[in-house]
Amino acid sequence: MGFEFKLTDEVTYVKGVGPRKAALLEKLNIFTKYDLLTHYPRTYENHSSLTDICDIIEGETVLIVGRLSNITSREARGLTIINAYLADETDYIKLTWFNQKYLLNKLREGMRLLVIGKAKYDKWAGGLAMSQIQNFTILDEYEEPPLGITPIYPATAAITQNVLRTAIKNLLNSMPTLKEILPQEILQSQQLIGLDEAMRAIHFPRDFLELNQARRRLAFDELFLIQCGLMLIKRQTQDERLGISHKKNGALVKAALEKLPFELTNDQKKVFRTVSKDMESKLPMRRLIQGDVGSGKTAVALLALVKTVENGFQGAFMTPTEILAVQHYEKFSKLLNDLGIRVGLLSAKVTRSKKLKEEIYQQIAAHELDIIIGTHALIQEDVHFAKLGLVVTDEQHRFGVNQRLTLEKKSDAVPDMLVMTATPIPRTMTLTVYGDLDVSLIKELPPGRKPIKTEAKNIRSRKKVYELVRAEILAGRQAYVVCPLIERSESEQLADIEPAEEMFDMLSNGIFRDIPCALLHGKMKPRDKDEIMEKFRDGETKLLVSTTVIEVGVDVPNASVMVVEHAERFGLAQLHQLRGRVGRGAEKSYCILISDSTANVAKARLKILETTQDGFKLAEEDLKLRGPGQFFGEAQHGLPDLKIADVFRDLEILIQARDAAEKFITDDDNLNYFASLRENLALAYGDKFNQITAN
Ligand code: ADP
Ligand code: MG
Repeated sequence: MGFEFKLTDEVTYVKGVGPRKAALLEKLNIFTKYDLLTHYPRTYENHSSLTDICDIIEGETVLIVGRLSNITSREARGLTIINAYLADETDYIKLTWFNQKYLLNKLREGMRLLVIGKAKYDKWAGGLAMSQIQNFTILDEYEEPPLGITPIYPATAAITQNVLRTAIKNLLNSMPTLKEILPQEILQSQQLIGLDEAMRAIHFPRDFLELNQARRRLAFDELFLIQCGLMLIKRQTQDERLGISHKKNGALVKAALEKLPFELTNDQKKVFRTVSKDMESKLPMRRLIQGDVGSGKTAVALLALVKTVENGFQGAFMTPTEILAVQHYEKFSKLLNDLGIRVGLLSAKVTRSKKLKEEIYQQIAAHELDIIIGTHALIQEDVHFAKLGLVVTDEQHRFGVNQRLTLEKKSDAVPDMLVMTATPIPRTMTLTVYGDLDVSLIKELPPGRKPIKTEAKNIRSRKKVYELVRAEILAGRQAYVVCPLIERSESEQLADIEPAEEMFDMLSNGIFRDIPCALLHGKMKPRDKDEIMEKFRDGETKLLVSTTVIEVGVDVPNASVMVVEHAERFGLAQLHQLRGRVGRGAEKSYCILISDSTANVAKARLKILETTQDGFKLAEEDLKLRGPGQFFGEAQHGLPDLKIADVFRDLEILIQARDAAEKFITDDDNLNYFASLRENLALAYGDKFNQITAN
């Protein structure tokens, strides 16, 4: 009886990978054969031609073949240094290996070696010498040197390229032909090579043509699978039997509208009309509202929540931070309590006390609360809603697809869902990231907003900048100072980063000695954070030094200045978000971006902010300048990380994959493929898509 080959097998089943190596591979997130198989090369080196030793150029990586002579070794400062010479018909070169004593048993004079490395001028050798040897292979007397394209893998210090290459080679050699997952039709229309061929070629391509075909095929697979996953989610919720159909807006919604201290902008009205229609439909609502910072998304959320309450349901409003939950809670209570709507707060602040927690859980379950605002605490196992009609997620980019789904499942019928984000995502990105949602835009800002005067300043102007801040505070306003990090890591110590804490000490003991200052950062206890935010909101604290915890949604209209230190360390979209914390009142506002970066790119980047207040435009610029990895850093979208596709470089593939996925999913003839589709989603993305892979 043979053993069945399974991609879900632990990686220790691969020849040459024992428990010790397996433990090291875990650091690279490689646990199974599948993980190893999809540990794609980061890049490749073209090792397809040999260089004559006489033609070696300093600093270039070359492949040379020659014969070894004059092997010597010595100890210096506890290091074993091995020297030898390698000669071909044209010349010879000195080779040096550091601290690889075991090589003394392997290397023999007269041996033929293939060496890959870089040469440098060496004054002792009086010419070029090679001490950066990447790799070498001992060749038999008449053996052809194995030339080709060498994969370079993401690796760690403990797991070398060679270990990875050997492990993957062994895996591929033991792997039976992979089953094709795409229908023949798609393979043909998209001109894709087979999965098995692609998977082998991506690691050890014969040539660059084959490599490109392999990459295209695997990138297509990745995007196609995700698109199918998102579409399956959508399809699953597009079930009329499951949805809640709300009634037309009645007296309570009208009363709430009247209680708002402002009239809705046209965009707000339009979006609320769309949302109302979605909610009235039998199909569950799945809508994303994209609106620039300060565009007034909260008011739309409030009205939608009131609508569900008017229909006898409960509404949940989930925020990514405690500060935001408290802020919304306070605003909502003030507006809605008079209308008889019971608003509750469920956040760490409450759940810290067992008694309070149980009380509020009980109130939620007994429908004694109508609108519950909270952080992740809302999606805990033991929170049971009596009758959930609408779920609003604020600043969606902080939550993953899964969290969105968990909250949704907390009810028998499928509640309507509204997702709000201020991260302006270009349209094509929206497709990948929010493929399961309909999208509405709020473009217009509420009237009377004065544009925020933005200036990029050099570190030398810092003193002047803080004088301006001081003047604003003395005139009755408040200010933020934002810093990139709170602690120095070793490497950053060298880079001379001023973390928030240090900045706070410096400012509160220096120029702002006589002014109430406070420090806010993510690692503080929620209780302390609340207190600091409350004092700032009440105007007791005038200057708030903080990390980016204030980036999302904080609303203090009296704050009129923001100084961002080390602005070059932030993305444009993020700076724009930060800037959105000021300019919320009637006063003229300032945002000053301080950087000491001398790099022109960094300067040019910050200059864009001086002239543009349009979040979407900034996001596009960001993408152009920094690429998607940076833009989406920290996996903000909650989708699985792409292993091989790159939504910018592969935009065309993305669109093709999306179209193909759409056709594939809506064609019922393909139902027999769904099992294998699910299987592959589970294999590739684990619990990211568990809603559709679990059954
Ligand atoms: P965001 O879209 O960034 O979440 P908010 O909902 O926090 O924006 O609104 C920003 C500010 O604008 C708040 O102070 C809010 O009260 C105010 N606001 C919202 N809509 C209007 C409007 N139509 N007219 C005037 N002010 C508004
Ligand atoms: Mg908001």
